[in-house]
Amino acid sequence: MNILITGGAGFIGSHLCRYFISQGYRVICVDNLFTGSRDNIADLTGNPRFSFIEQDISLPLYIKEPLEWVMHFASIASPRHYLSYRIKTLKSGLLGTYTCLGIAKEKHAKFFLASTSEIYGDPTVHPQTEEYNGNVNTIGPRSCYDESKRSAEALTYAYQYEWKLDVRVARIFNTYGEHMQIDDGRVISNFIVQALRGQPISVYGQGAQTRSFCYVSDLIHGIEKLMNADYALPMNLGNPHELKVIDLAKEIIRLARSDSRVEYFPLPEDDPHRRRPDITKANTLLKWAPQVSLEEGLTRTIEYFNRKLNQERDAHS
Ligand code: UDP
Repeated sequence: MNILITGGAGFIGSHLCRYFISQGYRVICVDNLFTGSRDNIADLTGNPRFSFIEQDISLPLYIKEPLEWVMHFASIASPRHYLSYRIKTLKSGLLGTYTCLGIAKEKHAKFFLASTSEIYGDPTVHPQTEEYNGNVNTIGPRSCYDESKRSAEALTYAYQYEWKLDVRVARIFNTYGEHMQIDDGRVISNFIVQALRGQPISVYGQGAQTRSFCYVSDLIHGIEKLMNADYALPMNLGNPHELKVIDLAKEIIRLARSDSRVEYFPLPEDDPHRRRPDITKANTLLKWAPQVSLEEGLTRTIEYFNRKLNQERDAHS
């Protein structure tokens, strides 16, 4: 059984590669290493059930092997990076999804799309259910990401309709954990790295905006359950425990035993004010709910970044 995972050297993709290898699959990992990293797949290199293709998924790709699944996880997912590389972000969502769907169709494989809570934009419905159509500014700075994922969903369902492709679409809410990069730019990695370095914690706005954070192992279980379910409509996957960004900052300072202080910066344009998944569908249809508390997940993530920062320090000394 072969699985193609795009973005397989990225944060979530590398966890998926490891998980499916442990389940006996052969994994073909495709990544252009733009935001992914060889470090994330270092322990898989040399494994006979793992192969790596360094390629941008927005370009045509031909795979020799038969495939059971094509899983499209390649994307620039952090606002810090996608705001600087808007065209590249659109390409991985539009052309990358098109490439992956073409491969799935050719191979008679099932297709899994990593979609996002960002398709809800700055939501006027709270918490966000799958039926909510979202509130996205089509020409705002985040539209490169939001609209590329919305179009990716549209492409996916067009292939389902015309080619009867078997599809799964997970709308992934904020996720954190091991294999995030030091310079990722998303809130949890920023706050932890700043806390460990004793630098000021960069809170945007007053920190009153909310997010709900899911630890990566919970997400991987949710993805696996969705793959095995007979359910082809979009499904929210995330942790409904919602908190303010300022409270996240305080919690990270406490858990990292840091003496960093908070510093306030302007709130980025179109930054969603509130976000929390309604996971009733995942609860009832998949019998899935996140198990790892924020405290436990943050503690593990702090340990991971501590190791990573020490390695970086050793490499430079
Ligand atoms: N944020 C922050 N400081 C940072 C990075 C992010 O206050 O150093 C805020 C950001 O404005 C947003 C929230 O944290 O309200 C989550 O941001 P992130 O970039 O992690 O992802 P998003 O959920 O916005 O895609």
